[in-house]
Amino acid sequence: MSETAIELVDVNKWYGTFHVLKDINLSVQTGEKVVICGPSGSGKSTVVRCINRLEEHQKGTIRVDGIELTNDPNSVAAIRSEVGMVFQQFNLFPHLTVLENLMLGPIKARGISKSEAEAKAMHYLERVHIPDQALKRPGQLSGGQQQRVAIARSLCMEPKVLLFDEPTSALDPEMISEVLEVMVELAQEGMTMVVVTHEMGFARKVADNMIFMDAGEIVEQGTPDEFFGSPRSPRCQKFLSQIL
Ligand code: ADP
Ligand code: MG
Repeated sequence: MSETAIELVDVNKWYGTFHVLKDINLSVQTGEKVVICGPSGSGKSTVVRCINRLEEHQKGTIRVDGIELTNDPNSVAAIRSEVGMVFQQFNLFPHLTVLENLMLGPIKARGISKSEAEAKAMHYLERVHIPDQALKRPGQLSGGQQQRVAIARSLCMEPKVLLFDEPTSALDPEMISEVLEVMVELAQEGMTMVVVTHEMGFARKVADNMIFMDAGEIVEQGTPDEFFGSPRSPRCQKFLSQIL
């Protein structure tokens, strides 16, 4: 992978006439962990969704691993094959077992054999510490376990970059830490990660770069020490005082 994993240059997006992203500039180096926070409606989800073309930007440049994201289906496919995404809602297939959920992508999109896909699925279920849940259906698992399955499902596609959009926001409080622990382990193993979260303990532990968004703009960015120690903008100070 090239040194710069993700690059956004002057990215702008509108929903109809609503200017949702305004000149977003963001660079994520390979192995780097970026945490994005900010008030609800500030455009955090839209940024991460633009990176793998779940949403389309109208102006500016997005590159992943040196590949520019354009309307060319080859560009979109190439980028999606490098980028995994974990959502607030786990989006697992309820009628399939955990194992089948994990095998689906590699078989369909990567064309690997069933037995290879099964071995891979078990490998990543072990990595998120729930190999014993392989034969259950998602509905039989706790929310924290389901989100770890969703993370394992992403890992089965062997992405170069993982995007997380508020992965613990839908979880009961007692299940948040089991998911964050898995994410910390991934971070420590060197995964390139962009994480939208308000879990500031996690952010302090793993972030190389903290981004604060408000009203479609990146208002502030810096190391966790800079960010938490001396936020410069009043908007960021206010946000931190509300959540810390
Ligand atoms: P965040 O993730 O920071 O809460 P979002 O990126 O989801 O913010 O949304 C940013 C703004 O764009 C919000 O005002 C939201 O209502 C609006 N928005 C999000 N998705 C759409 C959409 N599909 N169509 C129109 N407006 C949208
Ligand atoms: Mg959001």
